Amino acid sequence: MADVKDMAILYDTSKCTACKGCQVACKQWNQLPSPLKDSAYEFSGSYENPSELGPATWLRMTFNEVEPDDGGVQWNFGRQGCLHCTDATCETVCPVGAIRRASTGALALDREKCIGCRYCVNSCPAGVPHWDAVANKTSKCRMCEDRVVNGLQPACVSTCPTGALSFGRRDEMVSAARERLTGLHGGGHTKAEVFGIDELGGTHVLTVAHRGAEAHGLTPGMQAPSAVSLWQLLKPLAAIGTAAVAGVFGLSFLTGIGYRRDELTLEDREKEVG
Ligand code: SF4
Ligand code: SF4
Ligand code: SF4
Repeated sequence: MADVKDMAILYDTSKCTACKGCQVACKQWNQLPSPLKDSAYEFSGSYENPSELGPATWLRMTFNEVEPDDGGVQWNFGRQGCLHCTDATCETVCPVGAIRRASTGALALDREKCIGCRYCVNSCPAGVPHWDAVANKTSKCRMCEDRVVNGLQPACVSTCPTGALSFGRRDEMVSAARERLTGLHGGGHTKAEVFGIDELGGTHVLTVAHRGAEAHGLTPGMQAPSAVSLWQLLKPLAAIGTAAVAGVFGLSFLTGIGYRRDELTLEDREKEVG
């Protein structure tokens, strides 16, 4: 087993062509069906597809289109997927320990243990985990733990043809990101910044955003919701009576946290997995 403690992915928007090779590699390695089927060939007004993450879409490239004053369209490519936060809300709120910190630094979700409560779905500030209505389980990126512990790079990283993705120890990726930032500033990209050094306690997916984090679909300074700290204090009570505690405190937690999303219906799920 490879020595892979505290690893991180570094994504550099300035080198990304949005070829979506990483998106496809993720599906291929993790055997996730496409939600698009025949509609994959229909132009929906944007080259960004699918339009959101789902139980079978753990990574998607975002295009973040803007229309500059001088006309035309500018794309600010971004990457949406699990950030593998140090302050991982999903891990904190899971009442059955189905989400655990792997030695790689990633947050791995054990579908065998998952009871489909969707606390992680509703609490993740980045909208990452998605519930599968058919299986009543939740899914998300695992930073390819099965590859990484065997000395391989995550599938997305290994397929990137432009060098926009790199992988290594988190401290080395932070240094590489800072160095790249200095180069971008020197090259006139004055808005360039790094997302993930401090956000969410420090993420294990870092982004060098050459037009600024916000332009690439990220929220600079993002932190875990404060309600999660309260939950962290309450969670030990779950050992005394998980169901009762989760029912009473969990509901109020979910109501107050403000990250609720619509549940997938069976019909949505059928569209998702085909
Ligand atoms: S494979 Fe690399 S260049 Fe292609 S979309 Fe992914 S990060 Fe961008
Ligand atoms: S991005 Fe969401 S799902 Fe991923 S580790 Fe952070 S809180 Fe958990
Ligand atoms: S690390 Fe693996 S599971 Fe996560 S987005 Fe990349 S390919 Fe998908």
